[in-house]
Amino acid sequence: MKLILLGPPGAGKGTQCKRIVERYGMAHLSSGDILRAERAAGSELGKKAQGYMDRGDLVPDDLIIDMMIAAIKKAPKGYVLDGFPRTVAQAEGLDAALAKAGERIDAIINLQVPDEAILSRMTGRRSCPVCGAVYHVVNLRPRVDNRCDKDNAELVQRKDDTPAVVANRLKTYHEQTAAVIGYYKRANTIVAIDSNKDVDQVTADVFKRLDALDG
Ligand code: ADP
Ligand code: AMP
Repeated sequence: MKLILLGPPGAGKGTQCKRIVERYGMAHLSSGDILRAERAAGSELGKKAQGYMDRGDLVPDDLIIDMMIAAIKKAPKGYVLDGFPRTVAQAEGLDAALAKAGERIDAIINLQVPDEAILSRMTGRRSCPVCGAVYHVVNLRPRVDNRCDKDNAELVQRKDDTPAVVANRLKTYHEQTAAVIGYYKRANTIVAIDSNKDVDQVTADVFKRLDALDG
């Protein structure tokens, strides 16, 4: 299966993608995770991306499109795209690459959440630096305070999850990313899922739609 998960920052894309790949077995291609790995490795791409990421701005389209098309090529069994495409130019770049390869996206899911719910989700987010598991200090607590359930590593807060950077990321979403929904509505069916619910309920709603495709 080839999927795209859309939604504002903090909508729960990463959280739901991890559960989707566990159930259906495709690759999880998160542009944010790939960029953070590039930064950690000290690569040229990571160095070019870091200023944009720390401010909450988008990394330039040409860098992102090349990075994500390369990742897609390494996922022959299918994938779920998380955080990409984030501009209409990125969606066009993806479409061109898919057309060239004779492939198509099976479903696009849009996780909907009001702006008011986003700040507390992002400032309360904690991640495991070892396995990438994502928690929340109130909504999705680890079994032991501030320790990953899977590997006991100490959880960290992302530098771009501070209130000022979150505000800029939300602004960027409305100015540049929301238009991607309109772009896809012209040619594809977008499945809207209410993500302002309990995490497990959102997962159940997503699985219900994907099971129908898978079967
Ligand atoms: P995204 O990948 O869309 O930026 P995440 O999956 O990282 O979002 O979720 C952002 C934060 O919100 C995390 O701390 C996560 O635990 C929490 N979260 C995710 N889904 C929900 C939900 N349905 N209700 C409450 N909190 C959630
Ligand atoms: P995320 O992990 O999806 O919240 O992304 C973290 C940051 O990485 C964003 O605020 C951007 O700076 C950058 N980023 C991730 N994906 C993209 C993308 N598709 N286009 C441009 N920048 C991106």
